Amino acid sequence: MKILESSYEVMITSQEIQKKVIYLADLINEDYKDKNPILVCNLKGAFIFLSDFCRCLTIPHEVDFMSTSSYKKGMETSGIVRIVKDLKTNIIGRNVLIIEDIVDTGLTLNYIKKFLALHNPLSIRVVSLLNKKDRRKIEVDVDYIGFEIPDKFIIGYGLDYEEKYRGLKYIAELIDIKNMDK
Ligand code: 5GP
Repeated sequence: MKILESSYEVMITSQEIQKKVIYLADLINEDYKDKNPILVCNLKGAFIFLSDFCRCLTIPHEVDFMSTSSYKKGMETSGIVRIVKDLKTNIIGRNVLIIEDIVDTGLTLNYIKKFLALHNPLSIRVVSLLNKKDRRKIEVDVDYIGFEIPDKFIIGYGLDYEEKYRGLKYIAELIDIKNMDK
């Protein structure tokens, strides 16, 4: 699927994002005092959120990265998830915080949680900047949520469309879907 003429509309401003990042980090500063959490960032979409988020943390913490690929049907996740890059850190007995950009159908997050649970961490919780609750295909707990958003395809602040738009400071809705060449 290709966009012939792409355009987008700002949904969440940079200022709103920064306020929310501080709010979420404050919750973690409180809840994870003395727990030395390991922040697990699922690449690539969450990398900008993670970098802003961890700079607002005042508690000791570590960071590691993993990468999954889900086979996509157009803009939809197929539900078949594969680990492309595993963690370097041993998470046995650790408090893991999965840092997500967005939870949509929940299939990716569900897979990651099950995969990490096999490594016997002490706890696993999830911080997601964005949540599309109405799109769930599977029930999965998201412990800390920044924004509930409607069923729209969004870009910016780490999120891409065909590897473009990740560097936008705001989050925008991709529009003119009708102009797409199927
Ligand atoms: P899920 O498995 O929950 O359906 O999908 C999660 C992943 O799909 C996210 O980490 C993200 O990479 C991608 N995704 C879901 N919704 C959107 C969206 O609106 N825009 C973009 N750019 N990616 C999305």
